[in-house]
Amino acid sequence: MLEMTPPISGLSLANLRDTYEEIHNGHRHEAIDIIEPRGTPVRAVVRGTIRKLFLSKPGGNTIYEFDEKGEYCYYYAHLDRYTEGLHEGMPVQSGDVIGFVGSTGNADEGTPHLHFAIFELGPEKVWSRGTAINPYPGLVDAVKRSR
Ligand SMILES: [Zn+2]
Repeated sequence: MLEMTPPISGLSLANLRDTYEEIHNGHRHEAIDIIEPRGTPVRAVVRGTIRKLFLSKPGGNTIYEFDEKGEYCYYYAHLDRYTEGLHEGMPVQSGDVIGFVGSTGNADEGTPHLHFAIFELGPEKVWSRGTAINPYPGLVDAVKRSR
């Protein structure tokens, strides 16, 4: 796993809960929800490329970011909006603001949050066909390193 930087500035361990195995809407969650006020900047967790911007029914405004080698895909969902000018194929540095926390898709309107997932990509490197891995340990490390 690549070292990440926190997707939210000033994120603390108290804001992180391992909800990976929880059942949400009938499916294993396979992601971490980070509850933050609407409009909080969301930052790229690694250096890589914006591979896909996708409006999905459950995820709302979503971003699929590949790392430089195309080994892992980092998924950010329920975004209120993207950073202006963000586009597919755009290179980003870790820490770059790529969007803003919201409640688009099936998120509860009253609980804006970042739904964050990591997918291990297969050899075909298709954004929609990764295998989910638990981001929680990597997020904990990222927060500890950021202090
Ligand atoms: Zn979620």
